[in-house]
Amino acid sequence: MSENRALPALLPNYIGGKRKASRSKRHLPVTNPTTGEVITQVPMSLAADLEDAVQCAAEAQSDWGETPVKDRVQYLFRMKTLMEKQKERLAKRITEENGKTHEESLGSILRAVECLEFAASLPQLIPGGGLEVGRGVECRTIRYPIGITACITPFNFPLMVPLWMSPLALACGNAVILKPSEQTPLSAMELADLFSEAGLPPGVFSVVHGDKEIVEAICDHPGIAAIGFVGSTPVAKAVHLRGTRHGKRVRALGGAKNHLIVVPDADHEMTATNVVASVTGCAGQRCMAAAVLLAVGAVDPIINRIREKMAGIVAGGNMGPMISQAAKERVSGYINRAEDGEAILLLDGRDFIAESAPSGGYFIGPSIIDHASPEHEASRDEIFGPVLTIIRCKTLDEALAVENSSPYGNAAAVYTSSGKVAQYFVEHADSGMLGINIGVPVPREPFAFGGWNDSRFGEGDLTGFGAIDFWTKSKKITTKWSAQSKSNWMS
Ligand code: NAD
Repeated sequence: MSENRALPALLPNYIGGKRKASRSKRHLPVTNPTTGEVITQVPMSLAADLEDAVQCAAEAQSDWGETPVKDRVQYLFRMKTLMEKQKERLAKRITEENGKTHEESLGSILRAVECLEFAASLPQLIPGGGLEVGRGVECRTIRYPIGITACITPFNFPLMVPLWMSPLALACGNAVILKPSEQTPLSAMELADLFSEAGLPPGVFSVVHGDKEIVEAICDHPGIAAIGFVGSTPVAKAVHLRGTRHGKRVRALGGAKNHLIVVPDADHEMTATNVVASVTGCAGQRCMAAAVLLAVGAVDPIINRIREKMAGIVAGGNMGPMISQAAKERVSGYINRAEDGEAILLLDGRDFIAESAPSGGYFIGPSIIDHASPEHEASRDEIFGPVLTIIRCKTLDEALAVENSSPYGNAAAVYTSSGKVAQYFVEHADSGMLGINIGVPVPREPFAFGGWNDSRFGEGDLTGFGAIDFWTKSKKITTKWSAQSKSNWMS
């Protein structure tokens, strides 16, 4: 299969192993952000659509949960092979709905495949421990599925983020209902087709499209045991609150404002290259993107090099568009208001658009706002575009104080050639994912992805080793088969 299938005028849901039209009359257009063209419509599903999905999932899950884990993961191995074979086609689909460059789309697929690999290794990870705790008395743990789970995902990695969660949830014996972003619903349909091609039993994986209304229905539904959410902070907080109020397990990853600290002993060229890649990759629409550079002391040569390199990044050339016209306007609003107080616009992204870029696309070039105060809106808000704000600091402690005053705590990084500085940073930075000389410090499988503070709601992990606890419940069995000599009150 080399080319993408034609899209229907209105996307269906995927329920019980079949495409099924939503009962809703409310649709939203899905737009190709590179051209501004409407490519299909996505239904805003109703609670009744969710009810269908939950019923099918409930029927399928009891059998699936009893299927041995070694058999369950075989579907994931098949899925991995299918994805690898079709990666070019899938990358085109991601680019079509999200606007990433082809290389970025391919990269997101390879990262998603790693999540499949991790989940497929579950038989090696899941055996519970056993111990003779008293004479003749043994305790052991057995893990069980939790039932029907829901994954609610953002627009910025439409194939990868659903695969952060669903392979592990499935391998643990659960059914998964995916509610993808209404802005990028196409990759979710590709996943449904791929799981079907891999032979996954109908009902075990479903896709229900929609917006706030369906998310709230998921939070309220008594048949859904757990929710994995990834998106912006206000929504993560609301979903966590509403879901836990209805007795569910909820882990909700939120937004970010990531700080990169640059000290004078940093390698100039490597730092500049790395910072620019972090700011402009996926046009800044990554929760791991560099947002604020905390320039400690005399680092102007590095800042000049960052400016030079960033000026070479061209929207519509080597950088993709914003997801929507509204996102483009939000980002240009920050640039329009940038020169507030001491702040100056060192690079103006409103000018850097390739002549070859389609005129209807939502392009904006990279920008740098220098000499911003920590209170400047560009220093505080998640802009979620290719904008770097620079705050000048006298000392490492001053830089760390700015980083730690952010309500977010997703990621932070330091650029230095000193082990002492790096160690001090690791000990004092108040974020969940830290980088040393790396601006996108993604902890890849089996390490869990996730931040602190307002970047995550709910304790524990959503991916990696820690997520096995989230997607399972355990029984602890204490056994004694015969009376032992020398037994005591513990036996
Ligand atoms: P979003 O919060 O707008 O949407 C995420 C999901 O929530 C979507 O499925 C959407 O339909 C739903 N949703 C939106 N508004 C809702 C509401 N009012 N009530 C209930 N549900 C609602 O996020 P987005 O714009 O799609 O994605 C970008 C955001 O996601 C950024 O803030 C980014 O930092 C964050 N993100 C975080 C991580 C992470 O791991 N921490 C990863 C990727 C993206």
